[in-house]
Amino acid sequence: MAKFNTSKLLEFLLKKYVVFAPVERENELLFQRVYNPGEMSASLRLPKNSFKQFLLPHEEVLFDFTSPKVKKTITPQVIFGLSLVDLKALILFDQMFAKDPHYQAHRQNTLIVGQCVVPEDAKFLSIFEENVLERLKFDILLDHRKKGEPKIFTGSRLGQKTLEKFGFNEYEHIDFKGSIEGGVLDPKSQKLKEQMKKVINDKKFWEEFAKDCIMCGKCTVACPTCYCFDLVDEGGEIGDDKAGVRKRRLSSCFYDDFASIAGGENFLKTKAERLRNYYIHKFIRTPEREQILGCVGCLRCFQVCPVGIDIRKILDAALKYK
Ligand code: SF4
Ligand code: SF4
Repeated sequence: MAKFNTSKLLEFLLKKYVVFAPVERENELLFQRVYNPGEMSASLRLPKNSFKQFLLPHEEVLFDFTSPKVKKTITPQVIFGLSLVDLKALILFDQMFAKDPHYQAHRQNTLIVGQCVVPEDAKFLSIFEENVLERLKFDILLDHRKKGEPKIFTGSRLGQKTLEKFGFNEYEHIDFKGSIEGGVLDPKSQKLKEQMKKVINDKKFWEEFAKDCIMCGKCTVACPTCYCFDLVDEGGEIGDDKAGVRKRRLSSCFYDDFASIAGGENFLKTKAERLRNYYIHKFIRTPEREQILGCVGCLRCFQVCPVGIDIRKILDAALKYK
């Protein structure tokens, strides 16, 4: 049986692709660009940031007004080592941006290499549906769950071709069977949605959990399922050939101006209203529209929150709410 060598695979991919992989930096694990296999961390923890910046950049020019056709030259890239929960978040992104040519330009030039990593808090994760490989999208997946060499799966023809060119044929192929079974929300997500509906109009509940929030928006930046953005037009100089550009810039429902409109109205005035909106979006609106939760249980929102607002406590209270 041929031996699988992760470093050699990375070395092979680096010849053709820009590669992003988990890297240790000052005691933090972060997805960053790597230039040689030695830079990649072998840690099976979840990186502090997610994949989203490589598919939905924080700021991106969509077009310029002199030639508004979408012209994108995207360098082929690999995101190496996505955890199971990030692979689940990727499905939501693929659904939300299915018709977005800018996202698709990045996505179609991206090889996804997942690995069987899950967040450390198993108790918290147990309130979500279990991650089943045939319901996740990846090109290649490395399963380190048993000791010894990882077991290798492919989830696309691209993944198969890549491994074959690399010289490894002993993979198992898994066909993607769609993100949900039978077209309906799974029972655990359904329960979270129903409980969230019970609590959503309890003003005191949200005021209590939001009281320390400083509305910095870090939770939305770190969250692998948050994708809200602003469109910003930047004009050129008068007489300049360049008439200006339209940009997409990621935003946050915690920011002051997120829900403000002309005339001074703001639909999310208080921090309690903003926290509540975050949970409505993830546990009610997204599952009703997409049949998939808008939260994958990665816990990054808690880990980056400067005041320690803990999604585990909020969901626990919601699940116990009568
Ligand atoms: S990271 Fe914490 S403090 Fe900052 S907006 Fe999110 S919940 Fe509020
Ligand atoms: S746990 Fe927090 S950061 Fe992770 S997906 Fe859910 S809301 Fe987003």
